[in-house]
Amino acid sequence: MRFIQKAVDAFRPLADPSHRSIPVGLRPARRQWTFDLAPLTGESALSGICPVCGKRAKFDEFTDNPRESGRCSNCQSFNRQRQMAHAIRKQCGLPKAGPLRFPEGFVIYNTETTASLHLQLLQTPGYLCSEYFGDEYEPGQMVDGRRHEDLRHLSFEDNSIDLVLSSDVMEHMPDPYAAHLEILRVLKRGGRHIFTVPFGPSMQEDQIRAKLVDGDIVYLEEKAFHGDPVRPNEGVLVWTIFGLAMFGRLRELGFDVKGWNIFAPNEGVVGPWSLVFDARKPIDQ
Ligand SMILES: [Zn+2]
Repeated sequence: MRFIQKAVDAFRPLADPSHRSIPVGLRPARRQWTFDLAPLTGESALSGICPVCGKRAKFDEFTDNPRESGRCSNCQSFNRQRQMAHAIRKQCGLPKAGPLRFPEGFVIYNTETTASLHLQLLQTPGYLCSEYFGDEYEPGQMVDGRRHEDLRHLSFEDNSIDLVLSSDVMEHMPDPYAAHLEILRVLKRGGRHIFTVPFGPSMQEDQIRAKLVDGDIVYLEEKAFHGDPVRPNEGVLVWTIFGLAMFGRLRELGFDVKGWNIFAPNEGVVGPWSLVFDARKPIDQ
């Protein structure tokens, strides 16, 4: 229950009515969610069109972490990847079925180089993808066959990319809004950053779990780590869980921002926290 457990943990002290020191700007959660998707397994598994591969498929084996489970019988995508693909198809005007095909000259930059959505996008001419391998590498440098990029200092030209994708990436950096600003720079006018992050819909402010002070990490909350396909034995630190203030911060940077809580069982998208965000660079910027 990686992200969801963390988000629930973030709310837990606030849900206790005896807790007297509710931080300014946060409200008590109304109830604890439960995640029993056991009815959606085996014979009763969901089925429909998978937004990642665009094919008819079954979505089975949801666990108590519904965002990271419910594999597509065709492309092995899980729920969160389908949420991203659902939003991409909707915002880019693509059909709900069939392969992800974009107009000629459309440039996509994905901030990961693994998993089902990446594999589908590999077919797209002009597709760019990268990982972050460490400060010792130059942006744009190839490391073991994969491109290194730092979201704070991308190697791409201004106004050069139509669609940036990040799924549970922005919480893993000390200054996520510096990264958003850099993404704004490289996006074409009218281009979009479609992304997911751990987000508390009832949190007004971002929860800063750790910050950098004079180059050292200072922990304001218990350390939390997410799995990392590039560093499977280490995990990667969660610096921020985002709240409603994220919308205002992104608008201040210059984005038009939207967000959806997607419920599309016939696309294998179920459960709470099916949250996808779209930060668009205005046409006239
Ligand atoms: Zn699929």
